Amino acid sequence: MTINVRELKTLREEVLAANLELSRLGLALFTWGNASAIDRERGLVVIKPSGVPYETMTAEDMVVVDMEGRPVGGGLKPSSDLPTHLALYKAFPLAAGIVHTHSTYATAWAQAGLDLPAEGTTHADHFYGPVPCTRCLGDAEIAGDYERETGNVIVETFRNRGIDPASVPAVIVHSHGPFCWGTSAMDAVHNAAVLENVAKMAILSRMALGRAPSPMQQSLLARHFERKHGKNAYYGQK
Ligand SMILES: [Zn+2]
Repeated sequence: MTINVRELKTLREEVLAANLELSRLGLALFTWGNASAIDRERGLVVIKPSGVPYETMTAEDMVVVDMEGRPVGGGLKPSSDLPTHLALYKAFPLAAGIVHTHSTYATAWAQAGLDLPAEGTTHADHFYGPVPCTRCLGDAEIAGDYERETGNVIVETFRNRGIDPASVPAVIVHSHGPFCWGTSAMDAVHNAAVLENVAKMAILSRMALGRAPSPMQQSLLARHFERKHGKNAYYGQK
């Protein structure tokens, strides 16, 4: 494929900005997080390079690959989580950007192996229902194409449980951490930050109560989600 990689300058800059924002917001220590974005017309994904420190990362370091993960135009090695990102882009056509972190509170839910229930309006403003936790990967999946299987188990979770990835743009991967998606790389960062915050609130409310609170009322969940999303949304400026 002949591609002028320079054409993707804007997307590379967006992906760099999203990765730096993960670090700035405290969602990624060291090089643990990664953000990507997709150009669906060209079928190209731009992702953070593997193991490059945030302090020295430049837009040119962002790696361009095709939908099979083949590098386009040379450059650095992509993030090792690339196959997970590609599986999600293929299954969720609405995703324009994807973020993965090991942010502390969301990862606490991953390590507990629990769905993050909807317990308040901060959650409802962004996620229409619980953020699901996947099943554990099997030994063969772990030994095999591990990062792709991680993507597959996320897709399986949404399909088997009938969850709309547009209404719940995040998942908790069992024993691992969150993946979030959005209308751009920066929107996915936003969702990752909200997820971390509501994961923290849910843990604090358990401490306050000494037990799990009840899920919020369905009517309140729907009211908050729908005033920000969908055809009758009215939150914010016109
Ligand atoms: Zn990870």
